[in-house]
Amino acid sequence: MPNSIKRRGLMLVLSSPSGAGKSTLARMLLTNKEELELALSISVTTRPRRPSEIEGVHYHFISPREFERLRDSDALIEWAEVHGNFYGTPREAAENALADGQDMLFDIDWQGALQLQEKMKGDVVSIFILPPSMADLKQRLHRRAEDSEDVINVRLDNARNEIERWRSYDYVIVNKDLDRAFHEVQSIVTAERLRRDRCPGLFDFVSSLLDEKLN
Ligand code: ADP
Ligand code: 5GP
Repeated sequence: MPNSIKRRGLMLVLSSPSGAGKSTLARMLLTNKEELELALSISVTTRPRRPSEIEGVHYHFISPREFERLRDSDALIEWAEVHGNFYGTPREAAENALADGQDMLFDIDWQGALQLQEKMKGDVVSIFILPPSMADLKQRLHRRAEDSEDVINVRLDNARNEIERWRSYDYVIVNKDLDRAFHEVQSIVTAERLRRDRCPGLFDFVSSLLDEKLN
C-alpha cells in the first residue's frame, strides 16, 4: 500500500507473562524503525527502576501519589496493578499519535489490553506471547538477572493466571525461536495495516483510479 493513501493509526498491544520475551520483541520492532515506523507508548509506573532502565525511555518512574493524581484526572487511558505495582498509559501521547496516523506499540498486561479493547475497539490489534514451556519461562526470568529472587517468584506465581488470558487476544505467538517470533509479529503488523476498514484513503484512491483517462 503506498504511503500516500491515508490510513488510521493502529494500536499494537503486546502482552505476555513476565519473561516470555515481550520486551525483547518490542525492542526488535522499534529498532527496525524504517520498515515498521512504530512509536512506543511510554507508560508511567510506581515500580522501582531496574539497573538497565532509563527514565523516559522505558518508563516514566513516578511516586504512588503522582500516579493517583494522573489516574484521578483521567490522564491515563488505562491502568492496572501488576505484581504489586501500578502501571498506566498516558492518554495524550497515544491520542495525538493515533490522530496523526502514527501506529503505536503498547507493552501492557491483560487488564490494560481489555480496557483498550473496550474503549478503542477498531484501533486495537492484540498479540499474546507465550513461552515454549514453563521451564523456559523460569530460566529466562533468571537469565535476565534484573529482578531479585523474591520478585522472580511473584512473577512465576502470577504467570499461570496471565497465561489463562490468551483467549482474549487477536493473535497468539509461541516465542521459542526469537527470529521466527519476530517475523510473525512483523507479518501481523503488515497484514493489519492493509485492512480495508483502516484505510479511509482508499475511497479517494479508487475514485481517482476509475477517473483516470487512458490514451
Ligand atoms: P518480558 O518482557 O516478557 O518480561 P524479556 O523480553 O525481558 O521478557 O525476556 C526475558 C529474557 O528472555 C531476556 O533475557 C531475553 O533476552 C530472553 N529471551 C527472549 N526471547 C527469547 C527466546 N526466544 N529464546 C531465548 N531467550 C529469550
Ligand atoms: P515490568 O515490571 O516487567 O516492566 O512490567 C510488568 C507488567 O506490567 C508487564 O506485563 C507489562 O506489560 C505491564 N505493563 C507495563 N506498562 C503497563 C501499562 O501502562 N499498563 C498496564 N496495564 N500494564 C503495563
